[in-house]
Amino acid sequence: MKSILIIEDEPSIAELQKDYYELSGMKADICHDGEEGLKRALEGDYDLIVLDLALPKRDGYEICKQIRAVKEIPILMVSAKKEEIDKIRGLHLGADDYITKPFSPSELVARVRAHLGRYERLTGKQQPAQQTRFEFADYLLIKYLVAYM
Ligand code: CA
Repeated sequence: MKSILIIEDEPSIAELQKDYYELSGMKADICHDGEEGLKRALEGDYDLIVLDLALPKRDGYEICKQIRAVKEIPILMVSAKKEEIDKIRGLHLGADDYITKPFSPSELVARVRAHLGRYERLTGKQQPAQQTRFEFADYLLIKYLVAYM
């Protein structure tokens, strides 16, 4: 089961996201401040991080930079319209996507799924792809045996 870390200081938005991820068959944990969020992002085994920009203690840019220094997992940045994300800055720090509040939870879930899928394809973690490779290896072995028997 995919596991998402939500770093978001507005409880209603964090809970809304959590509900949607769980409805979509994923697990989600919530952190309400930047320091705790960064700690859990670095220590936990999450598949994707949804990161609010304006947070108590540490802001989203700093957290993104520090996660990216050690982890390649997808990071989606979220910001309120009034604090419009500096996308260039976010890109330099390694964020994979951006979404502006108020957002549609369905769109956020769709983006999360797309990034998880892309990351799996890039890292080769996807189960069906491995099976395909094994099948191909079996096929080559059979072909080899047939040719040299
Ligand atoms: Ca915030």
